[in-house]
Amino acid sequence: MLPTETVYGLAANGLDTIAVQKIFNLKGRPATNPVILHVSNIGEASKYAYFDEKAKKLADQYWPGPLTLLLRKKDVVPEITTAGLSTVGVRSPSNDVFQDMLACLKFPLAAPSANPSNRTSPTSPHQVLEMFGNSCPPIFDDGPTDLGIESTILNLTSKLPIILRFGHISQLEIEKCLDQPVSTLIDSHNLNSKLHKSPGMSKVHYAPKTFSVLHETIDACMEYKNFTPNDLIISHSSRDIKRFQDLPCKAIAFSTNGGLEEIARCMYRKLHDADKAKFNQLHLCLNDSDDDLALAINDRIRRACAQKT
Ligand code: AMP
Ligand code: MG
Repeated sequence: MLPTETVYGLAANGLDTIAVQKIFNLKGRPATNPVILHVSNIGEASKYAYFDEKAKKLADQYWPGPLTLLLRKKDVVPEITTAGLSTVGVRSPSNDVFQDMLACLKFPLAAPSANPSNRTSPTSPHQVLEMFGNSCPPIFDDGPTDLGIESTILNLTSKLPIILRFGHISQLEIEKCLDQPVSTLIDSHNLNSKLHKSPGMSKVHYAPKTFSVLHETIDACMEYKNFTPNDLIISHSSRDIKRFQDLPCKAIAFSTNGGLEEIARCMYRKLHDADKAKFNQLHLCLNDSDDDLALAINDRIRRACAQKT
């Protein structure tokens, strides 16, 4: 278990079929959901993926960092890693522990988030340990991660680059770097859209075990009629909490002042802690900021509240 700047990853040799199979087994991850290869730099990445001009530009600017590039894969990458697809996701994480580990190895690390499939991703070693219990492999404890929420995933194999997962690197930043428009086929208002092309991006993902109710706004949440004393509202800013004080339930916030970076960094830990406390229901509101990071945050909130069918 290794820290990245986004979330903790369950790492193994991404070129070794047996090692990657162990990742799938431990996570209970469907074989149809590919894993990302983590590398130290562009030179390493181009051993496993065909790097074109666009990929080079983006990696020059944003690596090491929270941007995953989907590129055509080279033959050396086994089918299990890419779930049989002709593309492979590559990224260079900025965490020093992870980079030190890569520097000691002659292979890339497949490192999906260190959580059982579909649960919230871990942003602290405690979360990893609590989710895997006795079957937990050794953890490199680097404390809480710097950024929280998973990397932006950009597909560069389509005519127009497409963001498949929102993250810290925004659509605007990518468009500026490439000097061309970029689309976002995952319409976060329609997660069932046939257009979403990333196998792992199912409607239910990053979800707490506790039943979670989605409210479009704080006002809508205030109007909810069926709160019980064992319900918990998790709002975005501590400043919102006094608005909830007359409601017959508890309320906490993802952040002290509503800053999007703090929300992104803390949200998975707060969801995990809320899960442990065994509330009856969680209530999550969408963030009303029009900043791009709010898109990534709201995407995770929608998925956390999507019902398992
Ligand atoms: P995780 O490693 O848990 O952050 O999840 C990685 C996600 O990246 C997967 O769930 C997929 O949605 C996406 N992904 C990785 N490789 C590919 C690929 N070759 N094609 C499309 N999506 C990919
Ligand atoms: Mg994951």
